[in-house]
Amino acid sequence: MIALYARISKKDKRVQKVSNTIENQLFLLRSYVSDNAICGEQEDIHEFTDDGYSGTDRKRPSFMKMLAWVELEKIDTVIVKDFSRLSRDHLLISELREKYFPLKQIRFIAVLDGYDSLSDENTGIIYPFKTLFNEFYCSDISRKVRCSLEAKKSSGEYAVAKLPFGYEIKDSKVVCRKDKAELIRNIYKRRKEGSTYEEISKLYDMTVSQVWRILHEPAYLGFHVWHRYEIESLPLKRRVKQMPEQWKMVSDDKNDIAVIDESMLSDDIVRYYGKSHRKNNARHIFHGITKCGICGNALCSDRAKKGWLCCRKCNGKEKKLIMTGRLYQLFFDRLKVVFYGEICCGDREKKTAGQIGNREIELFEKLCQNIKTDVDREMLLNIFVKRIYVSEPEKVIIYWRIKK
Ligand SMILES: [Zn+2]
Repeated sequence: MIALYARISKKDKRVQKVSNTIENQLFLLRSYVSDNAICGEQEDIHEFTDDGYSGTDRKRPSFMKMLAWVELEKIDTVIVKDFSRLSRDHLLISELREKYFPLKQIRFIAVLDGYDSLSDENTGIIYPFKTLFNEFYCSDISRKVRCSLEAKKSSGEYAVAKLPFGYEIKDSKVVCRKDKAELIRNIYKRRKEGSTYEEISKLYDMTVSQVWRILHEPAYLGFHVWHRYEIESLPLKRRVKQMPEQWKMVSDDKNDIAVIDESMLSDDIVRYYGKSHRKNNARHIFHGITKCGICGNALCSDRAKKGWLCCRKCNGKEKKLIMTGRLYQLFFDRLKVVFYGEICCGDREKKTAGQIGNREIELFEKLCQNIKTDVDREMLLNIFVKRIYVSEPEKVIIYWRIKK
């Protein structure tokens, strides 16, 4: 049986990519099947569709069903429009394409990527890069979507997933419940009178951290706050806490949401809002991927010398290791070697170096030219790099996310 698989995400729908609608994908796949005489006589074609599912989601119903059918040996060919329809996760794609499908003797075709596992033109080397590009594209898109969401939020539309304690939505407006507002005011009053967090928590049967959160919540002063967390999709999906200066706030026009005013703040909270939290915690573009090659501790920005990465554990004091600019240069030089090296490895006698993957080289160079901002650099790093160990200045080991 031939499986045609189509997927569209909610995002794709929002930006109205006509070429990606389920119907259009299926049309393309059906035409491909008939044009290329892929379907044997009396062979069945089954269409699997996931409507409104992201390519980063592995638990799409039809996708899982299709894999189950593969497992049951009901399917011998899988056809998709391009790799990204199957998944936006390049590790999963490589897993399927290089291990799972061959193991199950599945012929796999990605029409617009020009990939057919039966064709001997596939060196199988350049494809990991394609899927990496996909991921880059995907994260770029999600950034754009995020931006428009932020525009919405700053124009007053409340769009955070979780409301602060005490609030509810009534007639599509955020309001504070009366009984909770009373409780919140009492907590602030107690704190101003000198009660400790612990005393307050016992009095109102809360945890200390609940009390802390209530006492540090700008919403009670009449601010809409968002961007408290940033969702990083790469290398792993995780929520990263943002420092209060990075929060975005607008004061509520009608002051519907305010519960207290500034005069009710205790001194420590006034100081908290006034203090810069960023100073010592500035994130560098290698955040989350660089480690000290000696002790394994995460590298952080040097407090005194701007632009330097250091290990705070080694030698009992800050050990300066490398400048971020230099480390990026090293990464980039080696990426080129890895990238072009990969292409050369893909040269399996038939092709001369000049013919191999010219389009991919072009793509790669275009990609590199577009890397200008730190945000893009950070994204590029996260896509290609698993981990970087720095043990001495210039002594750098990079673990790539590219499967060899
Ligand atoms: Zn160290």
